[in-house]
Amino acid sequence: DILRTFVYNQHPARVTFGRGSIARVGEEADKLGLKRVIVLSTPPQAAAAEQVSKQLADRRTHTFSGAVMHTPVEVTEAALTLVREHRADGLVAFGGGSTIGLSRALALRTDLPQIAIPTTYAGSEMTPILGEAAAGRKVTLRSPKVLPEVVIYDVDLTMSLPPSLSATSGINAIAHAVEALYAEDRNPVVDHLALDAIAAMSGALPRISADSLDQGARTEALYGAWLCGMCLGSVGMALHHKLCHALGGAFDLPHAETHTVILPHALAYNASAVPDVIARLKTVLAADNPSHALFELAGRVGAPRSLEALGMPIEGIEKATNLVLSSPYANPRQPERDSIRRLLHRAYSGLPPV
Ligand code: NAD
Repeated sequence: DILRTFVYNQHPARVTFGRGSIARVGEEADKLGLKRVIVLSTPPQAAAAEQVSKQLADRRTHTFSGAVMHTPVEVTEAALTLVREHRADGLVAFGGGSTIGLSRALALRTDLPQIAIPTTYAGSEMTPILGEAAAGRKVTLRSPKVLPEVVIYDVDLTMSLPPSLSATSGINAIAHAVEALYAEDRNPVVDHLALDAIAAMSGALPRISADSLDQGARTEALYGAWLCGMCLGSVGMALHHKLCHALGGAFDLPHAETHTVILPHALAYNASAVPDVIARLKTVLAADNPSHALFELAGRVGAPRSLEALGMPIEGIEKATNLVLSSPYANPRQPERDSIRRLLHRAYSGLPPV
């Protein structure tokens, strides 16, 4: 018998999943009692966001299409002015982590209900974590206020996500599930979500790379993305996320790409400390060496595998090593200077993990 002792945080979101589910946005807005809605997007997704506004035609809607990466507070404040001008009673976020980040930053300040319509695999709609950029610094906070009330996962809206973005966004999502399996506060519920998520996403990505309009593969990827987001929102992350945070902050490296490069190396680093996790990953990835399998997956889908290709200077290895060792955090294997430096050297050069 296994004696189970754990804490599981259930976040109260209503999720609608499936092709064409965007058609339900009006009904969902009515359930929340919304009458004056602000629809949010990035500049490139402005036209698609207008289509969402049309679906909300019975209410007064305004669009704000200025969402950008890193959720800068200036952008949030500009959107907040619009929210106040129109006395908005709800937010609809149409897009990836950047747009959903803006919506969550607005919800933090106003407590307005949110409908999130994710169009990438970032999974931020499922987490109470918000990163904001203020005066050149990224500040991360946690609050249940930022969780959307409703999430609409419509596979049709992800078909236009370019193959390269699909690959890095998808592997970034896998990283959340992998670290959930060895999180300090891991639990059996999240273990199930993580394993199902990794199977779905790792199976879908090569199919999307071969045919970005493969509806079955897109469905699997979006389903996996949802579960990966739940993993990130439920338990604490470890070395992989610490490394990516340090690299992203110090060298302004792109978010999903950095996660894609680091994941196989971080897993290889921790492998000896978590044999049970490695055994489960062997099954779900159908591979003898899960870290190598993830490295090969990135290669197969044409994703970057070296930090050098992302623009990191070689001197950065020392700085990143210091950053990772400077503050304590939970990780199954103790971070140790020479090994971390070696890990970063291999990741810098695009070598397979050891
Ligand atoms: P993104 O939202 O910046 O989108 C990337 C680009 O793809 C944008 O130009 C966007 O317009 C475009 N795009 C999005 N969906 C598209 C589609 N279906 N078709 C065509 N183009 C599309 O990128 P992202 O990777 O989704 O999000 C990254 C951001 O999210 C980062 O700022 C990251 O820090 C944040 N994030 C936060 C959390 C969290 O829990 N707080 C989790 C993951 C990511």
